[in-house]
Amino acid sequence: MNLENRRAIILESPSGKGEEWLKQQTSLDWAIAKQERPAKPSQMAEIHVTPTDGPQDFCEKFRELRKSRAFVNFMESCTHCGICIDKCHEFLSTADVNNAPVGRAELVRTLYKKGNRLKPEDVDLNKLYTYYYQCTECRRCSVFCPQGIDQSEITRNVRNILTSEGRIAEYVAATMAAVYKTGNNLGLKPKAQGAVIDFLKEELKEETGKDIDIPLDKEKAEILLIPSSADLYVNTDTLKGYAKVMHALGKDWTMDSEVAEVANFGLFASEKHLREFGDRVVSRAIKRGVKYVVWGECGHGWRAATNYTRFRLAEKGLPLTHILQFTDKAIQRGQLKLDRNKNDDLFNYHDPCNYARGGNLVNEPRRVLKAVVRETVESKFTKQETFCCGAGGGLLAHEDAWEDFKMWGGWPSLYYAWKTGAHTLISPCAIDKAQYPHLIEYHKIDMKMKGLMDLVGYAVQL
Ligand code: SF4
Ligand code: SF4
Repeated sequence: MNLENRRAIILESPSGKGEEWLKQQTSLDWAIAKQERPAKPSQMAEIHVTPTDGPQDFCEKFRELRKSRAFVNFMESCTHCGICIDKCHEFLSTADVNNAPVGRAELVRTLYKKGNRLKPEDVDLNKLYTYYYQCTECRRCSVFCPQGIDQSEITRNVRNILTSEGRIAEYVAATMAAVYKTGNNLGLKPKAQGAVIDFLKEELKEETGKDIDIPLDKEKAEILLIPSSADLYVNTDTLKGYAKVMHALGKDWTMDSEVAEVANFGLFASEKHLREFGDRVVSRAIKRGVKYVVWGECGHGWRAATNYTRFRLAEKGLPLTHILQFTDKAIQRGQLKLDRNKNDDLFNYHDPCNYARGGNLVNEPRRVLKAVVRETVESKFTKQETFCCGAGGGLLAHEDAWEDFKMWGGWPSLYYAWKTGAHTLISPCAIDKAQYPHLIEYHKIDMKMKGLMDLVGYAVQL
């Protein structure tokens, strides 16, 4: 999808809503109406932020950014060539120049260019909040930028300041508050986690005839496996996939009820939160005395881990591996018996942005998929060129006022998956697993959505 075929592809949506969407006249007010609600002051307290004083404070913190060589480089090196413009799904969906990567960056470049002359009246915090919460931090534009400008890093820098000003999406704040309270995004307490696990073990017994354990808070285990809390709630086949692989390999593993969350919404909010959530995992891994940590299916969670948590674990002598790297290695060594006939369909693998452009995880998932299914087909835009699902960067919250924004932001990605003729879309990302079913329903596409470890679980012979 690019500027030339944008209209045609939007009109091709079987939803029949493309024409209406193309009539939208974008403006700042329109963009604000399509934005997720900002958090309330009480919610800021729950995430341990005392908001500072608005534009004056923003100016001071913004000036500090000039100490970052990367930020200065991103501000100085843009040649305004325009190559990035139609690489962003948010621009392709809205045609709003402030949603084009270069246009979005101009909102802060104009402030940067003022240098020491920057004054509070130059800063429109509402506009910055609006457009910097319409970037999904997907990094697709950066792949095509000849200057290597990373718009997602600019977004993270701006959001970092906005968070300290008390401007953060309510959904992001509420999710982080749940982590402070319970250690996971969904707010699942240990008792609830235990109840789900008991139920899943019964299901596994019925499916396989075997006693397959899903250990929670087991003492002295060798491996700490961190799932997405959604694996305990909606994506239970993903969790059963982990358990079957661990059982087949005879591994001594456990999950930990205090860090039942592989996601890290700090990536969408601030460096402080990202580090605090990463450090929680490190503390629990040390306390448990495990030998290594295995990360479950979650795109941005893996990016946060490879950006930060991996190094903190390494300092403590704890290696980190992704469940798909772990499973791939076992397959390569011939340690898993797999029956590809159990997944007799045509599958399309969607590269989560944060694996392909933020976590160097491209080949292992493909090798795992090919080992467990009969047939796969690639999209036109794949690997590092994958389109974002439209719900990254903390834009997952579903509410009528902004639902169409997210449904059209994710359309390029679903469009190219649909065009492959595949019946099932596969993604090992918790946000994708939450977003695509809505996208599929909204656009009336005849496809299903599954996690990759789900398919491994169906194929593995015990
Ligand atoms: S592609 Fe890079 S250099 Fe060109 S306009 Fe976009 S950000 Fe600037
Ligand atoms: S990081 Fe993604 S959403 Fe943000 S400007 Fe670039 S392409 Fe658009």
